[in-house]
Amino acid sequence: MSDNLLEVHNLKKFFPIKRGLLSKTVGYVKAVNDLSFTIKPGETLGLVGESGCGKTTAGRSILRLIEPTSGSVKFEGKEVTTMNSTQMRHLRREMQIIFQDPYSSLNPRITVGGMLSEIIKFHKLRATDAEVRDRVEELLEIVGLRAESARRYPHEFSGGQRQRIGIARALSVEPKFIVSDEPVSALDVSIQSQVINLLKDLQVQFGLTYLFIAHDLSVVEHISHRVAVMYLGEIVEISPAKELYSNPKHPYTQALLSAVPHPDPRKKSERIILTGDVPSPANLPTGCHFHPRCPKAFADCSRVHPVLGKDNTGHSTRCLLWPESLPAGEKITVTETETA
Ligand code: SF4
Repeated sequence: MSDNLLEVHNLKKFFPIKRGLLSKTVGYVKAVNDLSFTIKPGETLGLVGESGCGKTTAGRSILRLIEPTSGSVKFEGKEVTTMNSTQMRHLRREMQIIFQDPYSSLNPRITVGGMLSEIIKFHKLRATDAEVRDRVEELLEIVGLRAESARRYPHEFSGGQRQRIGIARALSVEPKFIVSDEPVSALDVSIQSQVINLLKDLQVQFGLTYLFIAHDLSVVEHISHRVAVMYLGEIVEISPAKELYSNPKHPYTQALLSAVPHPDPRKKSERIILTGDVPSPANLPTGCHFHPRCPKAFADCSRVHPVLGKDNTGHSTRCLLWPESLPAGEKITVTETETA
């Protein structure tokens, strides 16, 4: 029996491109392309990448809010991708999502208390109206809002408070696993850290497990035990958080990290500016998908697609500069000056 809460293997989500009167499929947008990772109970995996890299699609495919094209998602050892609607309804209690924009996911015509009560009653989590009311007040207090907030409507709250309501909604069904999809991106920096600290506290209090999606490495640093970096639908690097921040191996991660402000400006390394736009996931570059923008690219990078290879410290990367990323049977030549 595996000790992982979540296991994702070779997950793919391709969106067909249709053209013409007969809507013929002429290609695919490969939003998530062969994603594999695991998350242990009580752990936070940060999933980071530029917008359009497939991280949100990955999170929604895992929860089956959109159907994956292929691959396997196991939650507590049970295959999620083949569950029927009754099994999925039960699973929805275990796996929740917090959205980037809480306002658009809250019904403006229902009070916060009404919305939370509906969920509690739907899942039959409390027997009487008084118990439901008590639970609503408890949930609001858990996320740092006053019990009286139950009588107010979503538009009466600030952005940070609305995100707290989104968190209360996710917690209302007592889940084990939460996908936090850019939960702080729309908030001011000062509010961001309050929400991240709240999520950390709740993790300890309720033993929660998170997949924490963000486009910025600085946001996930203080909440993640491990971090995975995505580029064009693939994981290009995954490692324990401390190791990734102190010893990034992939040139894309190095570039993302160089943009993160350092508390001590004297220790800040030079900013790496990536040139060119992110290629279309409908027309992926040959070889290493990062090669058209990579400052360390060499001739073989446009020919050989690197594998996500793990070194003996548990740090995995997908770059031909590292021997563990070389596909079996391939030979490449890297000149000295090009080596990391
Ligand atoms: Fe850059 Fe080549 Fe490594 Fe890809 S394989 S990240 S192009 S050095």
